[in-house]
Amino acid sequence: MLAYIGIGSNLGDALENCRRAIQDIVSDGRNHLLKCSPFYRTEPVGKKDQAWFINGVIAVETSLGLREFLDFLLNIERKMGRERGERWGPRVIDLDILFFGDQVLNEDGLQVPHPRLHERRFVLVPLKEIAPQLEHPLLAKTVSKIISELPEGEKVIPVPATEQGPCTV
Ligand code: ATP
Ligand code: CA
Ligand code: CA
Repeated sequence: MLAYIGIGSNLGDALENCRRAIQDIVSDGRNHLLKCSPFYRTEPVGKKDQAWFINGVIAVETSLGLREFLDFLLNIERKMGRERGERWGPRVIDLDILFFGDQVLNEDGLQVPHPRLHERRFVLVPLKEIAPQLEHPLLAKTVSKIISELPEGEKVIPVPATEQGPCTV
């Protein structure tokens, strides 16, 4: 299944944390890295009095099922020392399933597509770099279209080219 994962960090070396998480995801033989967005420095949304985030999005081909895939990602978060404190507070790593093929699921612990992705510039800007024509299965709009209709919001600024590093496909 083709899955899109939103990656974020704003604790410690945030860029390095994002890279490590990608490495952890794709070093598992059941996942294959297809695309990486550039990384962005992004202004916090919701809870403003915290460090800016590093955000990026990757596309992965996975042989895991949706539930297994979530558990797999939550495990990497735990392994990297994620502690769940305040909602939307600082975190060493956050791995969100944005899309899982065109599957739609709305359960307590798992909603796909991610229910807030369409209002988040820090997700849509990197996503547009790797999948502008991807269509949201519930909104029936492409990523490009969704972003074009979004009001100005928190800042999303590309990390300098010299710091981007390779996409280790
Ligand atoms: P947000 O979901 O608004 O981005 P968050 O990422 O900070 O907030 P977390 O504390 O990381 O929220 O996640 C809380 C729970 O959300 C997870 O334990 C997981 O069970 C659930 N969840 C539901 N849908 C998804 C999804 N598509 N991807 C990742 N987690 C999800
Ligand atoms: Ca999140
Ligand atoms: Ca999350």
